[in-house]
Amino acid sequence: MPTKLYYGKDIISKHKDEMILGEKALIVTGKHSAKLTGALDDVISVLNEFKIPYVHYDEIGENPTYDMVIKGKELGIKENCDFVIAIGGGSPMDAGKAISVLIANPELTPDDLFDSSKYEVSVPIITVPTTAGTGSEVTEYAVLTKPNGRKSGFKDVLIFPDVSYLDPKYMTKMSRELTLTTAVDALSHSIEGVLSKKATFMSDILAKESISLIKEYLPKVLNDLENVEYREKLALASTLAGIVIAQTGTILPHSLGYRITIHKGIRHGQATAIFLPFVLEEVKKAEPEKVKIIEDIFGSIDEFTTFLKELGIYNFKFEYKDDELDLFINEVLNSSHVKNTPGEYNYNKIKDMYNKILEM
Ligand code: NAP
Ligand code: FE
Repeated sequence: MPTKLYYGKDIISKHKDEMILGEKALIVTGKHSAKLTGALDDVISVLNEFKIPYVHYDEIGENPTYDMVIKGKELGIKENCDFVIAIGGGSPMDAGKAISVLIANPELTPDDLFDSSKYEVSVPIITVPTTAGTGSEVTEYAVLTKPNGRKSGFKDVLIFPDVSYLDPKYMTKMSRELTLTTAVDALSHSIEGVLSKKATFMSDILAKESISLIKEYLPKVLNDLENVEYREKLALASTLAGIVIAQTGTILPHSLGYRITIHKGIRHGQATAIFLPFVLEEVKKAEPEKVKIIEDIFGSIDEFTTFLKELGIYNFKFEYKDDELDLFINEVLNSSHVKNTPGEYNYNKIKDMYNKILEM
């Protein structure tokens, strides 16, 4: 994991020199949370101290689109920015990664990012996460929403952030709902990491620790949202989960969930985690020893399902339109995630999973 990761309260001020990776910074954020959490002020005060000029681009929304990324690229090039600092949840971090490649390769379009043979350089990228879920601060992935509405990730070693600052104090203002939906993204990463065909001895060690931390501290944090000690445990769990998927990739629940996020408006982590019990049941038929790792932590798949239900992640209501499900299923069957998931998956099995989440 090539990212230099610094972790703990007030961590930016303790490692401020390492933020100076160029002569002019492009700060990439969403509309509110970078300011609200104090992270933007902490970054700007370091840049001011070192007399580094910056431009602030604050137009990244959830599930970032090509347009958002192109606008950031054009601003960065026009302003001669030579490094990127992304502050926020996975959306600004992923958009910042895309922008860091596009600034260094002005001839490329966002579509070209998905063919890593087309680029060999990026400008340095620093991330400051304000959610605990995606692990994007330690991964070589960025997920964008294509013009046709499909969410899709690109991957390249160049977009491992150069430096990431993980400070739990930025996470204490998250609502209960955002805390839950982001934490179950991290939980999905670790569980999918264990089940993945690419799991290793090392990734399993990190995944087990991450799952145990989430099991213990997520219910606690949901009852005490401003507790920095609990927030610290979830931040660590989420980053460990990021290190896991940087090795193993994500599997079927992520692919199933992307459609639910885009077409039904359910946040990424929740849209993914709701499928975990059904994928665990399928993987158990093919590779029971992988599922046993999860059973050892929760007791059984049923007890794990009860844990998810009690968190409230199945409290949603939607229906599928005619033909919609057919499209989702075919997109999932064509995704790379399926190949990485132990077991046999066909049209009817995927359809069954999409229907079962409505019956929970
Ligand atoms: P997000 O989409 O970045 O942010 C969701 C919302 O939370 C935004 O409205 C944001 O506001 C707000 N927010 C962020 N931090 C906050 C805080 N501390 N307090 C209050 N509100 C806060 O959410 P996310 O779940 O972190 O990221 C999801 C994205 O990451 C998806 O596109 C997903 O596909 C992707 N992802 C990437 C990876 C990877 O490895 N790269 C892995 C998993 C998922 P503002 O807009 O004002 O900032
Ligand atoms: Fe995810």
